[in-house]
Amino acid sequence: MPTAEILSTGDEVVTGQTLDTNAAWLAEQLTDLGFDVPRHTTVGDRVQDLVAVLRDISRRCDVCVVTGGLGPTDDDLTAPAVSEAFGWPLALDPEALAQIEERFRQFGRKMAPINRKQAMLPEGSARLDNDWGTAPGFAFDAATARSAEAGGGRAFVACLPGVPREMRELFAHRVLPELRGRFSLRPGRLVTVRTIGVGESDLQEALGDWRAEGVVVGFRTQLPENHVKLRFSAEVPDEVLVHRVQTVLARVGRWAFTIEGLPQPIEGYDCGGGRPAAVVGRLLLARGQTLALAESCTGGRIAAACTAVPGASAWLLEGLVTYSNAAKVRLLGVSEADLEAQGAVSEVVARAMAAGARRASGADWAVAVTGIAGPGGGTADKPVGTVHVAVAGPDGLALHRLLRLPGDRDRIQSLTVVAALELLRRQLVHPNPTL
Ligand code: ATP
Ligand code: MG
Repeated sequence: MPTAEILSTGDEVVTGQTLDTNAAWLAEQLTDLGFDVPRHTTVGDRVQDLVAVLRDISRRCDVCVVTGGLGPTDDDLTAPAVSEAFGWPLALDPEALAQIEERFRQFGRKMAPINRKQAMLPEGSARLDNDWGTAPGFAFDAATARSAEAGGGRAFVACLPGVPREMRELFAHRVLPELRGRFSLRPGRLVTVRTIGVGESDLQEALGDWRAEGVVVGFRTQLPENHVKLRFSAEVPDEVLVHRVQTVLARVGRWAFTIEGLPQPIEGYDCGGGRPAAVVGRLLLARGQTLALAESCTGGRIAAACTAVPGASAWLLEGLVTYSNAAKVRLLGVSEADLEAQGAVSEVVARAMAAGARRASGADWAVAVTGIAGPGGGTADKPVGTVHVAVAGPDGLALHRLLRLPGDRDRIQSLTVVAALELLRRQLVHPNPTL
């Protein structure tokens, strides 16, 4: 597998003022294309650092994409650094100058003399026309270097602007075709097992020492989800790939609400991707069943999550926001005595809300939540983040979960939405009347 590295440049990137989104985007593109991306490097605006790093990288990998430092100002050093590193004098590229002048004309501005600098390219490089901004990029083969100190370099190096939009356009239109021509790339396949309600360390522990040839395992948190990423190399045939995913699912499948990137669906698992509500919707649809909601602390956010799914009317009947005790009594039949004795944030009330919503709507399933989203209203035994979730289902199925959620009001509400949908999802997949 050919290797590719990314070199981000600029003081604003090393000092943390600019988040290096370029490297993240490029790494994903290159990985998807079938490159191994072993390293990212970031260097500030210092010529000698750039020179040393450019030479090192060009010796150890097949492709290097450099971003930033193509502007007209003194801190834009990429072309001078390449010039010094590889022994190519900078020369005025008349075509590049004409393009820069034309761009200034288009915008009705006078070109400052320093913009000429952007047309000065290292002699051993080829210009990458920039139709999306001022400065052209350039690319070269390190193997053709004229400097003895750059000996042994082999990488194809592309230098792109730092401005993300320009960088992406130049990569897509000028670099990508070149990479496809130079390398016989065989993109692998990324399978993502998306889980909810389980920590990364528990996932790792459940997966144990699982390893298989041709697949690299990784973990990624994307709150409130944790993902197990299985990156398969192109050589792994589809049947083998599916079999390997099944062995992973035998260990972590109970938390998997959906699996993305499979060549074919795996029986017993949702493979459609999307948000948790979309998965719940598909499960309900497949069973021809319906859902009703009774929300207190989420104020309708579960309903909003459900109605964000196209076609939700096929499975969502109604959602009640019963914020006051009176509404819980009047609309859901919650007992006043229970409210009095246990408080609105309690298991008995959550269960009664779910049962009441199911009864009132005629839905097969009902989900109810009641909790303290804060910042006020918490007590010693019911601190902010205390949330009761209940599900009522067919055949007398009823269950409850007490959650202690972290974060501010918005976070507690959004985590409640996901937790409630996940509780329902697990019941739809493996009904367990004892809970
Ligand atoms: P310019 O002609 O605008 O000077 P340039 O090619 O010289 O472009 P830089 O000066 O390095 O690029 O960066 C220009 C802007 O692009 C930065 O101010 C920053 O907003 C953004 N940028 C630069 N590098 C990155 C990066 N690695 N990730 C995300 N954004 C970046
Ligand atoms: Mg700049």
